[in-house]
This record gives sequence, C-alpha cells and structure tokens, in this order.
Amino acid sequence: MRQRIAVISDIHSNLEALEAVLAEIDRLGCQEIICLGDLVGYGPDPEASVDLVMERCGVVLRGNHDDALFRPVLDFNPIARNAINYTRKIMKPGLVRAGRKAKRWEFLRHLPLQQLRGDWLLVHASPNDPLKEYLLKTDLLFCRDKIAEALERTPRLAFVGHTHFPGVFDEKLRFHEPRDLRDGQYRFGDGKAIINVGSVGQPRDKDPRACFVTVEADGARFHRVEYDFTAVQQKILASGPFDEFSAARLARGE
Ligand code: ZN
Repeated sequence: MRQRIAVISDIHSNLEALEAVLAEIDRLGCQEIICLGDLVGYGPDPEASVDLVMERCGVVLRGNHDDALFRPVLDFNPIARNAINYTRKIMKPGLVRAGRKAKRWEFLRHLPLQQLRGDWLLVHASPNDPLKEYLLKTDLLFCRDKIAEALERTPRLAFVGHTHFPGVFDEKLRFHEPRDLRDGQYRFGDGKAIINVGSVGQPRDKDPRACFVTVEADGARFHRVEYDFTAVQQKILASGPFDEFSAARLARGE
C-alpha cells in the first residue's frame, strides 16, 4: 500500500473541526497523523481536543499557544491572551497531580519543538525559529531574506503551520496557494520546499473550512473539510471570556 501521511496544525480547541478532519483522514486511509502544534487557544474545547490529538497523532509538536500555558503571556494580543488564561484555568491540575488532567498537562508541557524525520523538518512556525516566526506570502515582497534563510535551514522539505495560511514556498522564492495548484497538489521536484499545512480550527484565508495536508512520495495535497462552525460559535458565546469576534471569525475564515 502507498504510504500516505496526514499533517495537521493549529487546532485551537476547535473540537468539531478536529473531528471532521480526523474522519476525512480515516476515509483517505492515512497510515499516520503528524500534528504541528497549537492544540489549544481561541476555542472552547481544549481538553477534548488535546485528548483526541494524544489518541490519534503519532508525532505532536509544541506551538506558541501550547507553550504560553506555562509562562506569563506578555506577547499575545488581548483575544489570544484571554483564551490562554481561560484554557490554563480549565486545564491546570490541582495540587494532587493525578488522573487525566495531570496526564494532559504533562503531555503539553513536554511537547518537542521540532522533529527531523529523514529529509523532512517538522516544526510549528519556521525553520529559523520553531515557535514564533511567521513565514508569510508578503515576506516575498518585503522580507525575502527571511524566506531564503528558512529554505537554507530546510533539509529538503519543511512542514509548518502557525500563520493559518496554507501554501508552499519553493526554492525559487515563489509562494503557491492551494487554489493555484492542479487538484490542490504540490508535486515535489528536486528543489526544497516549505509547506504550510494551514489550520484545522481557525483558517484565516477567507475559507471557513478546516484545512490539512496529506503527503505521499511524489507530493503534498491540500484538503478542505466543512464542519459545523455554528456549534462552536454557540459554545464560544455561551462560555468563557470570549468576545463576539472569536465566534464571527470562524464563519468568515479570518
Ligand atoms: Zn495557531
């Protein structure tokens, strides 16, 4: 059987989107699932989302939102900061550290920053800075050195998330959006490539459907999956410190 691996990222406590993506991954017959981090933040269901990732993903990396649970959050905007403080309140185990809560907490605390797998580099944000650097299409106009440097640090392929914008940077410093690719597939050539797998739980490319990638020997394919974002919006509005924008953005994909 052909080896087919799914790569997901940026779930952000959106359980409905994660369930829809996992169902599609099962339907496609993937042998393994890799998660590039940001399991939590923004959404209403951190515990159930983390449980599902722990159960289903063979590799799980640390995102900047996961990392923020374990330190003072000074560099986040107010929406992201409120969500992390809310998530920490729900998830942090009490003094008696036992059971499911402690297991999740320790799992998140010990997530690795990156993984090298043959000639693939797996990382949440960027080969230059695994946790925080944003690699954006607009960098090709204003900050080409950053993308060139990231490609230099890429063995052959790098898989990233973090920006919530899916697409591929190639060695000629071009960015390919999934809609410009034939059948949504980027075919691997001889050159290096950095593949941004997009976001499961909070797409920001104006398409509200959950995004992920499958990888086979000859290329990477982008997938979009519809899910019931109105159910997530209702939970967001009914609980926690969330504002209306956190709910509205899910319908607009921003
Ligand atoms: Zn994220």
